[in-house]
Amino acid sequence: MDDIRVRRVVQTEDLSNVEFETSEDVEVISSFDNMSLREELLRGIYAYGFEKPSAIQQRAIKPIVKGRDVIAQAQSGTGKTATFSIAILQNLETSVRETQVLCLSPTRELAVQIQKVILALGDFMNVQCHACIGGTNLGEDIRKLDYGQHVVSGTPGRVFDMIRRRVLRTRSIKMLVLDEADEMLNKGFKEQIYDVYRYLPPATQVVLISATLPHEILEMTSKFMTDPIRILVKRDELTLEGIKQFFVAVEREEWKFDTLCDLYDTLTITQAVIFCNTKRKVDWLTEKMREANFTVSSMHGDMPQKERDAIMKEFRSGQSRVLITTDVWARGIDVQQVSLVINYDLPNNRELYIHRIGRSGRFGRKGVAINFVKSDDIRILRDIEQYYSTQIDEMPMNVADLI
Ligand code: ADP
Repeated sequence: MDDIRVRRVVQTEDLSNVEFETSEDVEVISSFDNMSLREELLRGIYAYGFEKPSAIQQRAIKPIVKGRDVIAQAQSGTGKTATFSIAILQNLETSVRETQVLCLSPTRELAVQIQKVILALGDFMNVQCHACIGGTNLGEDIRKLDYGQHVVSGTPGRVFDMIRRRVLRTRSIKMLVLDEADEMLNKGFKEQIYDVYRYLPPATQVVLISATLPHEILEMTSKFMTDPIRILVKRDELTLEGIKQFFVAVEREEWKFDTLCDLYDTLTITQAVIFCNTKRKVDWLTEKMREANFTVSSMHGDMPQKERDAIMKEFRSGQSRVLITTDVWARGIDVQQVSLVINYDLPNNRELYIHRIGRSGRFGRKGVAINFVKSDDIRILRDIEQYYSTQIDEMPMNVADLI
């Protein structure tokens, strides 16, 4: 189980009938065969284990391939990454070894994950795809880019650096993909995205992808997109179907730790991710769990990239089963075996909740989420429950049977 991305996908529910709200009539293409994709790409798709396109894939691949600006929003784990990866591969001219697509993500792990999906789906296409991310060797980056890359999947800081050094040449770029678009267009990243955007040819196609897209972000899109087609899931569909959500009332912060220890056996049934709100808390909890002789891994944004990579690898391969982390991990990371998410701390906003919980129950698999709530958190929990019209019950004794 070295690379979970190339395993066959089993036991998935049919996600192709989700209701969509789109800005105009979009064609729904229910098989990859009917998408007029190139032969070697189709081969890559089937070899990767996909049989039927998911709802977002049925609707969004074609418009992206046609060159339209597209805003695609669908629940986490429904195949958005594969959607744009397939469209990117379809439009590449592999005989021209220049960068034609730039894909930007908020975290390094996500950028690498996208690179892997593109390389795997494009396995029969001789495609060059480079992950251009911070925290890695500059010289190596320069060497890889000099060699020529069809697709660059990166984080904004390093990508901009490479563009400014003229190592990453933008003249042949035809498409810009912003994954986790709401995060990318938020305060922290917006300027950086704009810096990059200014270097792209004026006709560059723009594709925005996200599970969540608040109104103010959608409004901004008119500034850099041309007549975009919007493929949006109604909010009602963002109910986290298939993921059972529970809470444990802990009254006080100090009780959370014992509750977690009691749950440890449940955590290791498959794999679990535990979210804390701060890096310090992650370090603290990791330390404390280890002192109590529990085996846990942990990761956050202040760790050196090498260490982050090693921890991800360990977790993906199943060598470690419990990962304690911050929201750096909440977005987009895909590890299929994760079937349990614990919110040691409740997230600071509603969007984060869906991103965190979305780490379990990937592609229609079943998942369980457990929220630790102090007395004064109950209001926040109820707010989340209402917002997503979902149900969060008290955790039953037999929770292990549900995983
Ligand atoms: P998202 O980007 O929406 O969070 P991903 O593209 O990461 O979702 O897909 C979630 C999981 O489902 C991945 O493991 C992916 O390989 C798998 N998957 C995506 N599309 C399909 C498909 N058409 N058939 C089977 N599995 C799929």
